[in-house]
Amino acid sequence: MKKAILVLALLSCGCAGGGKVTQFSTIDALLAGVYDGDFDCAQVARAGNLGLGTFDRLDGEMVVSGHRVYQVKSDGVVLRPPGSLGTPFATVVNFRPDKTFKTSSGLSMRALEEQIDRLCPNPNGIYAVRLSGRFSAMKTRSVPAQCKPYPDLVVAAEKQTIFELGPIDGTVVGFRFPAYFKSLNVPGYHLHFLSKSKSSGGHILGMTAESGSVVQVQECKRFELLLPGAGGAFSKALLEHDRSRELQQVER
Ligand SMILES: [Zn+2]
Repeated sequence: MKKAILVLALLSCGCAGGGKVTQFSTIDALLAGVYDGDFDCAQVARAGNLGLGTFDRLDGEMVVSGHRVYQVKSDGVVLRPPGSLGTPFATVVNFRPDKTFKTSSGLSMRALEEQIDRLCPNPNGIYAVRLSGRFSAMKTRSVPAQCKPYPDLVVAAEKQTIFELGPIDGTVVGFRFPAYFKSLNVPGYHLHFLSKSKSSGGHILGMTAESGSVVQVQECKRFELLLPGAGGAFSKALLEHDRSRELQQVER
Protein backbone atom coordinates (compact mmCIF):
# COMPACT_ATOMS: atom_id res chain seq x y z
CA MET A 1 0.00 0.00 0.00
CA LYS A 2 2.84 2.40 0.93
CA LYS A 3 4.57 1.65 -2.38
CA ALA A 4 1.44 2.52 -4.38
CA ILE A 5 1.19 5.90 -2.66
CA LEU A 6 4.85 6.68 -3.42
CA VAL A 7 4.43 5.93 -7.15
CA LEU A 8 1.39 8.21 -7.36
CA ALA A 9 3.31 11.02 -5.67
CA LEU A 10 6.16 10.72 -8.19
CA LEU A 11 3.76 10.77 -11.13
CA SER A 12 1.84 13.75 -9.83
CA CYS A 13 5.01 15.83 -9.35
CA GLY A 14 5.28 15.85 -13.16
CA CYS A 15 9.07 15.74 -13.17
CA ALA A 16 9.50 12.08 -14.13
CA GLY A 17 10.58 11.72 -17.78
CA GLY A 18 9.05 14.42 -19.97
CA GLY A 19 8.56 18.07 -19.29
CA LYS A 20 12.06 19.37 -19.93
CA VAL A 21 12.09 22.33 -22.27
CA THR A 22 15.27 22.71 -24.30
CA GLN A 23 15.91 26.10 -25.83
CA PHE A 24 18.58 27.02 -28.37
CA SER A 25 19.78 30.64 -28.00
CA THR A 26 17.49 33.52 -26.95
CA ILE A 27 14.65 35.54 -28.46
CA ASP A 28 16.52 38.80 -27.82
CA ALA A 29 19.47 37.54 -29.90
CA LEU A 30 17.02 36.84 -32.73
CA LEU A 31 15.51 40.31 -32.33
CA ALA A 32 19.04 41.72 -32.57
CA GLY A 33 19.59 39.98 -35.93
CA VAL A 34 21.62 36.94 -34.84
CA TYR A 35 20.39 34.58 -37.57
CA ASP A 36 23.44 32.32 -37.96
CA GLY A 37 22.51 28.68 -37.47
CA ASP A 38 24.80 27.91 -34.54
CA PHE A 39 22.76 24.77 -33.77
CA ASP A 40 21.33 22.25 -36.21
CA CYS A 41 18.01 20.54 -36.87
CA ALA A 42 19.32 17.13 -35.82
CA GLN A 43 20.11 18.51 -32.33
CA VAL A 44 16.66 20.08 -32.13
CA ALA A 45 14.88 16.87 -33.19
CA ARG A 46 16.85 14.85 -30.63
CA ALA A 47 15.93 17.28 -27.84
CA GLY A 48 12.16 17.17 -28.27
CA ASN A 49 9.09 15.91 -30.09
CA LEU A 50 7.16 19.19 -30.10
CA GLY A 51 8.35 22.71 -30.63
CA LEU A 52 9.05 25.68 -32.83
CA GLY A 53 11.76 28.00 -34.03
CA THR A 54 13.37 29.33 -37.17
CA PHE A 55 16.30 28.48 -39.46
CA ASP A 56 19.73 29.71 -40.52
CA ARG A 57 19.35 33.18 -42.14
CA LEU A 58 15.76 33.30 -40.76
CA ASP A 59 14.72 31.08 -43.67
CA GLY A 60 11.15 30.19 -42.66
CA GLU A 61 9.19 29.02 -39.63
CA MET A 62 10.04 25.79 -37.80
CA VAL A 63 7.48 23.28 -36.57
CA VAL A 64 8.69 20.25 -34.61
CA SER A 65 6.20 17.41 -34.45
CA GLY A 66 7.05 13.85 -33.43
CA HIS A 67 10.85 14.51 -33.44
CA ARG A 68 10.54 15.63 -37.07
CA VAL A 69 11.46 19.14 -38.12
CA TYR A 70 9.36 20.94 -40.75
CA GLN A 71 10.38 24.14 -42.52
CA VAL A 72 7.57 26.44 -43.68
CA LYS A 73 9.23 28.67 -46.27
CA SER A 74 8.06 32.19 -47.08
CA ASP A 75 6.61 30.97 -50.41
CA GLY A 76 4.37 28.60 -48.42
CA VAL A 77 6.23 25.41 -49.36
CA VAL A 78 6.86 22.99 -46.46
CA LEU A 79 10.14 21.04 -46.49
CA ARG A 80 11.72 18.35 -44.35
CA PRO A 81 15.17 19.97 -44.01
CA PRO A 82 18.34 17.90 -43.60
CA GLY A 83 19.57 17.43 -40.01
CA SER A 84 22.59 19.54 -40.89
CA LEU A 85 20.51 22.67 -41.58
CA GLY A 86 21.29 25.30 -38.94
CA THR A 87 18.98 27.11 -36.57
CA PRO A 88 19.61 30.31 -34.62
CA PHE A 89 16.60 29.82 -32.30
CA ALA A 90 14.36 26.91 -31.36
CA THR A 91 12.40 25.70 -28.33
CA VAL A 92 11.37 22.05 -27.92
CA VAL A 93 10.03 19.70 -25.29
CA ASN A 94 9.49 15.99 -24.88
CA PHE A 95 5.76 16.42 -24.81
CA ARG A 96 3.75 14.21 -22.48
CA PRO A 97 0.47 16.00 -21.92
CA ASP A 98 -0.91 16.02 -18.41
CA LYS A 99 -4.24 17.62 -19.32
CA THR A 100 -6.53 17.21 -22.34
CA PHE A 101 -9.84 18.75 -23.31
CA LYS A 102 -12.05 18.89 -26.39
CA THR A 103 -13.45 22.19 -27.55
CA SER A 104 -17.24 22.18 -27.47
CA SER A 105 -17.78 25.14 -29.78
CA GLY A 106 -15.88 27.23 -32.31
CA LEU A 107 -13.24 29.30 -30.51
CA SER A 108 -11.32 32.38 -31.58
CA MET A 109 -7.61 32.50 -30.73
CA ARG A 110 -8.35 34.74 -27.73
CA ALA A 111 -11.13 32.45 -26.45
CA LEU A 112 -8.93 29.43 -27.01
CA GLU A 113 -6.08 30.99 -25.04
CA GLU A 114 -8.50 31.78 -22.21
CA GLN A 115 -9.66 28.15 -22.16
CA ILE A 116 -6.07 26.92 -22.17
CA ASP A 117 -5.29 29.40 -19.37
CA ARG A 118 -7.82 27.56 -17.21
CA LEU A 119 -5.81 24.36 -17.72
CA CYS A 120 -2.57 26.17 -16.95
CA PRO A 121 -3.21 27.77 -13.57
CA ASN A 122 0.40 28.59 -12.67
CA PRO A 123 1.16 32.07 -14.10
CA ASN A 124 4.85 31.55 -13.35
CA GLY A 125 5.13 28.14 -14.99
CA ILE A 126 6.09 27.11 -18.53
CA TYR A 127 3.45 25.19 -20.47
CA ALA A 128 3.72 23.27 -23.72
CA VAL A 129 0.57 23.19 -25.87
CA ARG A 130 -0.67 20.99 -28.69
CA LEU A 131 -4.01 21.45 -30.42
CA SER A 132 -5.26 19.13 -33.16
CA GLY A 133 -8.40 19.54 -35.17
CA ARG A 134 -10.12 21.57 -37.81
CA PHE A 135 -9.72 25.31 -38.10
CA SER A 136 -12.32 27.38 -39.90
CA ALA A 137 -9.74 30.19 -40.03
CA MET A 138 -5.96 29.95 -39.79
CA LYS A 139 -3.80 33.00 -40.46
CA THR A 140 -0.07 32.34 -40.45
CA ARG A 141 3.11 33.96 -41.66
CA SER A 142 6.60 33.06 -42.69
CA VAL A 143 9.71 35.14 -43.24
CA PRO A 144 12.20 34.92 -46.16
CA ALA A 145 15.92 34.17 -45.78
CA GLN A 146 17.94 37.28 -44.99
CA CYS A 147 21.26 38.48 -46.42
CA LYS A 148 24.26 39.76 -44.45
CA PRO A 149 24.61 42.26 -42.89
CA TYR A 150 21.44 41.00 -41.25
CA PRO A 151 18.72 43.53 -40.39
CA ASP A 152 17.11 43.22 -36.97
CA LEU A 153 13.96 41.15 -36.69
CA VAL A 154 11.52 44.07 -36.84
CA VAL A 155 12.93 45.03 -40.26
CA ALA A 156 13.19 41.41 -41.48
CA ALA A 157 9.58 40.69 -40.47
CA GLU A 158 8.37 43.50 -42.75
CA LYS A 159 9.10 41.07 -45.62
CA GLN A 160 6.86 38.36 -44.15
CA THR A 161 4.30 36.53 -46.27
CA ILE A 162 0.85 36.06 -44.74
CA PHE A 163 -1.21 32.93 -45.45
CA GLU A 164 -4.98 32.60 -44.96
CA LEU A 165 -5.22 28.80 -44.73
CA GLY A 166 -8.64 27.96 -43.28
CA PRO A 167 -10.76 25.91 -43.34
CA ILE A 168 -8.03 23.37 -42.74
CA ASP A 169 -7.14 20.33 -40.59
CA GLY A 170 -3.88 20.37 -38.71
CA THR A 171 -1.90 20.74 -35.52
CA VAL A 172 -0.91 23.76 -33.48
CA VAL A 173 2.22 23.47 -31.36
CA GLY A 174 3.83 25.92 -28.99
CA PHE A 175 4.35 27.29 -25.54
CA ARG A 176 3.10 29.70 -22.94
CA PHE A 177 6.03 31.31 -21.20
CA PRO A 178 5.75 33.51 -18.11
CA ALA A 179 6.44 37.25 -18.26
CA TYR A 180 9.78 36.96 -16.45
CA PHE A 181 11.19 35.03 -19.46
CA LYS A 182 10.89 38.14 -21.63
CA SER A 183 14.51 38.42 -22.79
CA LEU A 184 14.88 34.66 -23.30
CA ASN A 185 11.65 33.55 -24.96
CA VAL A 186 8.21 34.91 -25.93
CA PRO A 187 6.03 35.72 -22.90
CA GLY A 188 2.46 34.49 -23.31
CA TYR A 189 1.46 32.18 -26.16
CA HIS A 190 3.74 31.51 -29.13
CA LEU A 191 2.13 29.04 -31.52
CA HIS A 192 3.06 27.54 -34.91
CA PHE A 193 0.84 25.52 -37.25
CA LEU A 194 1.34 22.52 -39.53
CA SER A 195 -1.49 21.26 -41.72
CA LYS A 196 -2.51 17.58 -41.55
CA SER A 197 -1.26 17.15 -45.12
CA LYS A 198 2.05 18.74 -44.02
CA SER A 199 1.88 21.07 -46.98
CA SER A 200 1.24 24.42 -45.23
CA GLY A 201 1.77 26.12 -41.89
CA GLY A 202 3.71 28.94 -40.22
CA HIS A 203 3.77 31.25 -37.22
CA ILE A 204 0.15 31.79 -36.12
CA LEU A 205 -1.23 35.32 -36.21
CA GLY A 206 -4.89 34.34 -35.75
CA MET A 207 -7.16 31.30 -35.88
CA THR A 208 -10.60 29.92 -35.15
CA ALA A 209 -10.77 26.31 -33.94
CA GLU A 210 -13.90 24.32 -34.74
CA SER A 211 -15.67 22.30 -32.06
CA GLY A 212 -14.18 18.90 -31.30
CA SER A 213 -10.58 20.09 -31.49
CA VAL A 214 -8.33 18.34 -28.96
CA VAL A 215 -6.24 20.59 -26.73
CA GLN A 216 -3.38 19.09 -24.70
CA VAL A 217 -1.09 20.87 -22.26
CA GLN A 218 1.89 19.98 -20.14
CA GLU A 219 3.42 21.96 -17.31
CA CYS A 220 7.20 21.95 -17.87
CA LYS A 221 9.29 22.15 -14.73
CA ARG A 222 12.75 21.91 -16.22
CA PHE A 223 14.38 24.33 -18.63
CA GLU A 224 17.71 23.98 -20.41
CA LEU A 225 19.20 26.89 -22.33
CA LEU A 226 21.95 26.23 -24.88
CA LEU A 227 23.96 29.29 -25.93
CA PRO A 228 26.23 29.78 -28.97
CA GLY A 229 29.91 29.96 -28.06
CA ALA A 230 32.27 32.92 -28.13
CA GLY A 231 33.49 34.39 -31.41
CA GLY A 232 30.26 34.37 -33.42
CA ALA A 233 27.54 36.96 -33.91
CA PHE A 234 25.83 36.00 -30.64
CA SER A 235 28.84 37.07 -28.57
CA LYS A 236 28.93 40.46 -30.35
CA ALA A 237 25.18 41.20 -30.15
CA LEU A 238 23.95 44.04 -27.95
CA LEU A 239 21.63 42.28 -25.54
CA GLU A 240 21.49 44.72 -22.62
CA HIS A 241 18.35 46.69 -23.40
CA ASP A 242 14.70 45.71 -23.05
CA ARG A 243 13.36 44.52 -26.43
CA SER A 244 9.77 43.82 -25.25
CA ARG A 245 8.26 46.38 -27.61
CA GLU A 246 10.09 44.97 -30.65
CA LEU A 247 8.94 41.49 -29.62
CA GLN A 248 5.31 42.64 -29.48
CA GLN A 249 5.70 44.04 -32.97
CA VAL A 250 7.04 40.88 -34.61
CA GLU A 251 5.34 38.04 -32.75
CA ARG A 252 1.73 39.19 -32.66
ZN1 LIG B 1 6.97 32.03 -34.25
